[in-house]
Amino acid sequence: MINDAWLRPLRNLRLSVTDRCNLRCAYCMPEEEYAWLPRGDILTFEEIARLVNVFADLGVDKVRLTGGEPLLRKDLPRLVAMIAAEPRIRDLAITTNGILLAAEAEALRKAGIGRVTVSLDTLRPDRFRVLTRRDSHAQVLEGIEAVHRMGWSGLKLDSVVIRGTNDDELADLIEFGKRTGAEVRFIEYMDVGGATRWTMDQVVSRAEMLERLAARYGAVEPVVEETSAPADRFRLSDGTIFGIISSTTAPFCASCDRSRLTADGQWLLCLYATAGIDLRRSLRDGSSKEEIAALIRSAWQGRRDRGAEERLAVKDRQPLIQITELRARPHLEMHTRGG
Ligand code: SAM
Ligand code: SF4
Ligand code: SF4
Repeated sequence: MINDAWLRPLRNLRLSVTDRCNLRCAYCMPEEEYAWLPRGDILTFEEIARLVNVFADLGVDKVRLTGGEPLLRKDLPRLVAMIAAEPRIRDLAITTNGILLAAEAEALRKAGIGRVTVSLDTLRPDRFRVLTRRDSHAQVLEGIEAVHRMGWSGLKLDSVVIRGTNDDELADLIEFGKRTGAEVRFIEYMDVGGATRWTMDQVVSRAEMLERLAARYGAVEPVVEETSAPADRFRLSDGTIFGIISSTTAPFCASCDRSRLTADGQWLLCLYATAGIDLRRSLRDGSSKEEIAALIRSAWQGRRDRGAEERLAVKDRQPLIQITELRARPHLEMHTRGG
């Protein structure tokens, strides 16, 4: 196990397997056009598996597949099986928008995915269409139902809460979670990556969400647990558990053990990092496993990132990155770094 400069271990790797997406969520990909990563730069499954093996040597035991939309990556279950074959990865999960999930769920589970998180911001098809600029709400719900029908435990539903867009659906989403055996997690709207339309007044804080849920359900109790997971969990009086990821108003950088690998092999030490470490070059220039491990080890040991906490100190917050800069540097996009 290796620690960074603030004694945070390297344990949790989010692997983006593609930067492509079949939705255009307003808080992530609001533009009409995007510059995609060149195909030849995208890591092969064999390259990803080599890196996972090195990361496991260094203490990583949790991997989450993400994107872009990870289910757009051709033959994904083959990659899942390759990662699942690494016994030190004890938690292998995926975050998906759910559109292709109904068709893929069996294969993913068989290949070794342990837990699925589906992003679902609204239960209303008309809202979904406006929010994502696509008409796929029914497929997303089918994907969630498919996981439920399989009796696959550990299902989570992640909702980005935006004032004036879906903040009147907190209780409806919790009720939907009850029906589908899923734990709902509300995410504060973040000012990262492609969120070029972000404004602070659209952010519904954790405190406000709790207040609203208490008004509807009565007492909301915090669940006491020792974990580096980003969500604070809460319990309603009927026992229902839900989470809140308060990255904007109450960040959790102090315990952050997460890093991110983009589909083209840039390793980012923080969601807010402006530059990454080029592991694709190391994979392709003949570097040995030991050399790659040494590069990762020294980068992690020097890690001081606390991006979300630093943003908290900024007065009069605006979107982090302007559109012209995003066009020039697609690695700054949320859909490239994997959320
Ligand atoms: N496409 C997949 C999905 O949507 O689940 C995986 C990648 S997506 C970038 C991962 C997560 O990032 C999603 O749950 C999404 O809602 C979240 N996300 C994207 N932009 C965000 C923002 N500006 N604020 C908060 N969460 C955001
Ligand atoms: Fe939406 Fe995920 Fe696609 Fe971003 S990457 S546009 S959050 S589905
Ligand atoms: Fe971790 Fe960076 Fe997010 Fe803070 S902002 S929790 S350091 S990834």
